[in-house]
Amino acid sequence: MGKILLIYTGGTIGMIKNQQTGALDPFNFEHLRVHLPELNDCGAEVITIQFNHPVDSSDMSPELWSEMVTIIDKYYQLVDGFVILHGTDTMAYTASALSFMLANIAKPVILTGSQLPIGVLRTDGKENIINAIEYAAAHDQDGNPQIQEVAICFGQKLLRGNRTTKCSADNFSAFTSYNCQPLAVSGVNIKYNSNILLRHNPYLPFSPQSIMDPSVIAITLFPGVNPGIIRNVFALSEIKGIVLRTFGAGNAPRQSWLIDAIKAATDAGKVVVNITQCQQGTVEMGLYTTGNQLHYAGVVSGHDMTVEAAVTKLMCLFAQNLPSDQVRKLMEQPLAGELTV
Ligand code: ASP
Repeated sequence: MGKILLIYTGGTIGMIKNQQTGALDPFNFEHLRVHLPELNDCGAEVITIQFNHPVDSSDMSPELWSEMVTIIDKYYQLVDGFVILHGTDTMAYTASALSFMLANIAKPVILTGSQLPIGVLRTDGKENIINAIEYAAAHDQDGNPQIQEVAICFGQKLLRGNRTTKCSADNFSAFTSYNCQPLAVSGVNIKYNSNILLRHNPYLPFSPQSIMDPSVIAITLFPGVNPGIIRNVFALSEIKGIVLRTFGAGNAPRQSWLIDAIKAATDAGKVVVNITQCQQGTVEMGLYTTGNQLHYAGVVSGHDMTVEAAVTKLMCLFAQNLPSDQVRKLMEQPLAGELTV
């Protein structure tokens, strides 16, 4: 029987209605446990820990990611895997952040939550939690954890955390990973997509990192974007990294003010990463002149990374105080399965 640490951070799954406002508020884990007698009989020993103040995930922060990393590090040798209960709104950011912060992890970290609170009759929370625990406790034929990475379990799919985006505000299948097959699908049986599961490197130690550097911004381009605003944002001294959300295969307007702003930023050591606004597909800056110009201005390709992955990867690399050339290089390489090269 596997031993799982369940970390409750908040989210709809454990929320109850505020009688004054009628809106949902985070609540404590005891409330959740009452509605989840299945926890005592789910084929794994589940121990639990909760944030002092469970949050709506819109209030998630690098400090709370750090708290999760500290807990995982503390229990790393004591349990077989981790399940994190988390609000859906920013779950993809947390999953991406943890995938970079928990470098070379050999055990599963499975995030899940729900669209309906656990106390509601049609809740999706029970199925999601039970599936997540099953994934976290699963071993392969050699006795190694089946999942050795950070993943999101939601609506019968297990998805790579740093490939995932919240795609629906109300559907029970709330998450998709447009550029990566599911790691597993649960029907009557669980089917693992063994070819793509990450395997930790046995020669490298598990190296948790608990700090992030949030000197990062994501900018969405659109026709008519105001040059003055873009110029000013690129020039801000507190910004070290810019995720530029471009059109199609990584294209941007052919305007000298934009190229000048990017050149000035890269000359000042800032890292500008090209991520497409398309949900599916990849950046190919050599394909059109409108993309090529970005390459020559010093922009690095984010390939098929999600915005969530690009933003948190930059935060993680900047926190290591690496020179910007090194950050640029690493942004183009997969560190935790986050991009296809
Ligand atoms: N606002 C909630 C949260 O992200 C939504 C959810 O959990 O589904 O915490």
